[in-house]
Amino acid sequence: MSTLADVLARQTREGELYERLADGRLRCYACGHCCPLPYGAVGVCKVRFNQGGRLMVPWGYVGGVQCDPIEKKPFFHAYPGALAYSFGMLGCDLHCAYCQNWVTSQALRDPAAVAPPLAASPDALVEDAVSLGARVLVSTYNEPLITSEWAVAVFKAAKAAGLATGYVSNGNGTPEVLDYLRPWVDLYKVDLKSFDDRHYRQLGGRLEPILDTLRRLHAMGFWVEVVTLLIPGFNDSRDELARLTTFLASISADIPWHVTAFHGDYKMQEPDNTTAEMLLTAADIGRANGLRYVYAGNLPGEVGDLEDTRCAQCGDLLIARRGYFIRQYRVTADGGCPGCGTTVPGRWDARFGGQLASRPFVPGSRSLAVHRTR
Ligand code: SF4
Repeated sequence: MSTLADVLARQTREGELYERLADGRLRCYACGHCCPLPYGAVGVCKVRFNQGGRLMVPWGYVGGVQCDPIEKKPFFHAYPGALAYSFGMLGCDLHCAYCQNWVTSQALRDPAAVAPPLAASPDALVEDAVSLGARVLVSTYNEPLITSEWAVAVFKAAKAAGLATGYVSNGNGTPEVLDYLRPWVDLYKVDLKSFDDRHYRQLGGRLEPILDTLRRLHAMGFWVEVVTLLIPGFNDSRDELARLTTFLASISADIPWHVTAFHGDYKMQEPDNTTAEMLLTAADIGRANGLRYVYAGNLPGEVGDLEDTRCAQCGDLLIARRGYFIRQYRVTADGGCPGCGTTVPGRWDARFGGQLASRPFVPGSRSLAVHRTR
C-alpha cells in the first residue's frame, strides 16, 4: 500500500513560486522560510520538493471542505453573514503544539496525522460553493501560503463565478508570494501568534517575516484582519500585548484585532483555558494602544459587547453578534454608520442578505466529485 508521502508526491505539478539556482538547486518563495532545495530535497513544509531541478507543489486535491459562517474565519468586516466555502490541503510551514487542525497541517511530519487527500478540481469546488450559496471561497485549515499555486487556480475560477476570495494564514509570507496572490485574493486573515521572536522559533518560524507580511498586506490593499489566540503563560503578558497592538495600530488603527480564547489541543494541554477576564484585559490593552475595532472570540455571550461592531466615531451599534450569529445589522448600503455617516472600514455588500448559516457544516458532494485517492 502506498504511503501518504507517495500519494501526495503524485498529487503535484511544477510550481511557479521559485527560482532556479546553480547546480540544479532551487529556492522556493511560497513562505518566509525561502527554502534552498538541492536535488531531491523536500522543504520544511514537507509538501514541496525539488524533483530533477523543478519545484513540485501540491495540486488537484483537498484535505477537506467545509461551509463556515464567515464570522468563523474570523472576518467581522467583510460580507457579514456570508457563507464561506472553505477548503484546505495538507501540510504546514510551522508546527504549533496547540494546532486545532493538526490532523491536516502536520501530515508528513507527525505519523499520527493521517488525512487522506480527496481529489478535486477548481471548477468542481466553485460549482459546489455556488450551489450552496457561498459568497466567499477561502483557503484555510492548513497553511495556504505553501499551496498558493493551487489556491490561485481555484480562485481564478471563483472570480469568474463572482465570488470573493480569502486566505486564513499564519502570515509567514514573502514579497514574491504576496505579489502572486494580490490579483486573486481579496481578504487576508493573519494569525499573529506572539510578538516575541523566541516564541515564534518554538513554533518553527520567525517573527520578522510575519511583521513584514502584515505591513505589505495592508500597503497592497488586501482587506486584513488579525487574530491572536491568547495562551496563558505564552503570549499574554501586558508587555507583549502592548508591543503587539502598538505595532498593529502603527500599520492602521482600522485593522480589526480578534483576541480569542485558547483551550488545550494537540500537544499543548498544559495551560489553563483562557478566561473571559483575560480576553477583556487584552482587549483593553489593544484599545488603549489605538486599535479601533477589537473583538473577543471563542467565549460567546461572556465578553460584553466585544462581539459587536460599533462606529469608531459615534459609538452607534452597527452589527450585533453572538458567536457566529448576526443578531442585528445596521451598516448602510455604502458601508457607513447610520448614525453619523462615518465610513466603516471593510468590504460590504450594498444589502445585508441575511445569514445562510450561523454554524459550520460539511457540504454534500453533489458537484464536488471528491473521492479518496488511495
Ligand atoms: S513553502 Fe516554505 S517551507 Fe515549503 S518549500 Fe517553500 S519555502 Fe520551504
